[in-house]
Amino acid sequence: MEPRQHQPSELLHVDSLEKSFGGIRALQGLTFGVPAGAIKAVIGPNGAGKTTLFNLVTGILLPTGGIISLNGETISGRRPQEIARLGVSRTFQNVLLFGRMTVLENVMVGRHTRSQASVLSAGLRLPWMRREELRIRAWAMEHLEFVGLADRFQERAGNLPLGEQKLLEVARALATEPKILLLDEPAGGLNTRETERLAELIRRIRGQGITVVLVEHDMNLVMDVSDDIVVISFGQKIAEGKPREIKRHPAVIEAYLGEEGDYANGAGQRV
Ligand code: ATP
Repeated sequence: MEPRQHQPSELLHVDSLEKSFGGIRALQGLTFGVPAGAIKAVIGPNGAGKTTLFNLVTGILLPTGGIISLNGETISGRRPQEIARLGVSRTFQNVLLFGRMTVLENVMVGRHTRSQASVLSAGLRLPWMRREELRIRAWAMEHLEFVGLADRFQERAGNLPLGEQKLLEVARALATEPKILLLDEPAGGLNTRETERLAELIRRIRGQGITVVLVEHDMNLVMDVSDDIVVISFGQKIAEGKPREIKRHPAVIEAYLGEEGDYANGAGQRV
């Protein structure tokens, strides 16, 4: 496949991305774009390289080759904090929260990445810091309301059921005011009702003008919320298109099942 140039309407562009871990080529020449305001899913069998992609986009890992750009500006090679400040935020496959802190504090920590007062200096309680703290608190509450957790704000994060912990992670990621939000298997471990709530939340996030990239195994959710899907297998793109095209794409069916049939016809599969 020919490398594609960054399109002006694309917020995120990944060009010929490579990542090797010793002899393992986790990503091989991966190229795709995410239009501003889109919900784009990245799907692929276990070990395809999806989490590695997120780790590269957020700067946790450095690519072995290729370029990642945000709004036409190269972000690959920059430090994670800098990439976060430019507007990239994420959630994790295995929820990463401060379990002993309250729900509200977990979101406030996310917001502190953008505030003048660090968590430590806020302990000094200078008047302007106190005002800043109150602003951050109000901001965090707004985000808890947005994800439907406002009534749980005083609860210890570790006491929440998994579904609510995942919503809390989303609230924390949103509190950094991202341009683009990367969701790594947000529906993993959720029941049907929780997954429906998540789908509705993802749409509302996009409604706020935030671009969403979704890594997910729940095909119902992917087909339901995505505008566009890129499929990777063994680190390479094997297909890209609208959900209805992807459902019937022979290479996708083969990569998942090894044969045609159930994938295209079936619903609600985790693959
Ligand atoms: P899953 O759907 O199971 O989460 P994935 O698509 O997210 O899988 P990755 O976790 O990105 O896949 O892994 C891609 C490949 O890179 C796998 O072969 C994995 O074993 C390997 N890999 C990922 N991270 C590392 C690492 N830090 N060191 C060595 N190998 C790694």
